Amino acid sequence: MKRHNWLKKHTLGLAAALLMTAGMSQIALAGDSVYVNTSSLRYRTSAQIKDNNIAGNLSYGQKLERVGTSGQWTMILLNGKKYYVSSAYVTSKKPASAGAVQTTSQTAAGAQTSGGTAIALSSNYKYANYSKINSGTATLYRSTASNKKNKVVCVNAGHGTNGGGSVKTQCHPDGSAKVTGGTTGAGATSAVAVSSGMTFADGTAESKVTLAMAKVLKTKLLNAGYDVLMIRESDDVQLDNIARTVIANNNADCHIALHWDSTSSNKGAFFMSVPSNATYRAMEPVASHWKQHNQLGESLISGLKSAGVKIYSKGSMEMDLTQTSYSTIPSVDIELGDKASDHSGATLETLANGLLAGVNIFFGQ
Ligand SMILES: [Zn+2]
Repeated sequence: MKRHNWLKKHTLGLAAALLMTAGMSQIALAGDSVYVNTSSLRYRTSAQIKDNNIAGNLSYGQKLERVGTSGQWTMILLNGKKYYVSSAYVTSKKPASAGAVQTTSQTAAGAQTSGGTAIALSSNYKYANYSKINSGTATLYRSTASNKKNKVVCVNAGHGTNGGGSVKTQCHPDGSAKVTGGTTGAGATSAVAVSSGMTFADGTAESKVTLAMAKVLKTKLLNAGYDVLMIRESDDVQLDNIARTVIANNNADCHIALHWDSTSSNKGAFFMSVPSNATYRAMEPVASHWKQHNQLGESLISGLKSAGVKIYSKGSMEMDLTQTSYSTIPSVDIELGDKASDHSGATLETLANGLLAGVNIFFGQ
């Protein structure tokens, strides 16, 4: 804490002083400031993800002096020294409030359930009023592992909302039309609040498998030191996709929705990436967060690959999802296979190992 305050106070003066020294002026972008747009951002001594170049952490909303950028990496001056941060986590616009990534200790005011805290959709949360089904609660679990990560991972078992298919919610907060197909076609401005999901070739409902997957993943994350926000722990939670997303936005550091796809070719795992559509990527909150979403998806695919999971094509498919359209934290829908894929306990175990590895990659652990 002390260190951060000290850095905040002294960064600008030192940066200005250093910019005047020879060599720095050519990369200087005079007066250019950016802000940290994630709850905790690592800064590094070189533009690479490595264990031995981490210099420290920056906090949400912290103003930084940007002196250069190479696309993926942004060079900053801190304490008179050059450091590098991932460009995906800085924004030139000052983040509106700390609310988007506030830590759970500030918001988890719900009732205690067995081992966890129930979290309801607060009407104060941004975008909460777009939700139509929100009488249910998610549950926050704190890790008791010795190596606490101080990160909350939202685990969202896809589907599992009784009646969710007969209610419609707005696809985008600004009312614009969907830019890709999917469960709801392109051009639609409203979509089912929560679809019922597909049925596996062996007759098992997707929602049963996503729930089983979520439970296995929850245990692994807690054991690894992550806190876990479980959207659903039974066959039915009365939370639509918008409510799930908004609860995650306000209580977690990333959001992972678990799904299996509706094809029948056992094609492998992939994530739904943010469509490369200029209008969609310019719409808030997508504009400020789409890079984080894709980075989380790519991390999860890397983790799954390392666990030996079959990956479909390049590991992603562009999709305009309600989840993505309302997410203000890194957020993905990951499709762990399809109707023809094995979903035995052993396979779910492997998938969970891969997802945990991906979460570790994403948070640089
Ligand atoms: Zn699904």
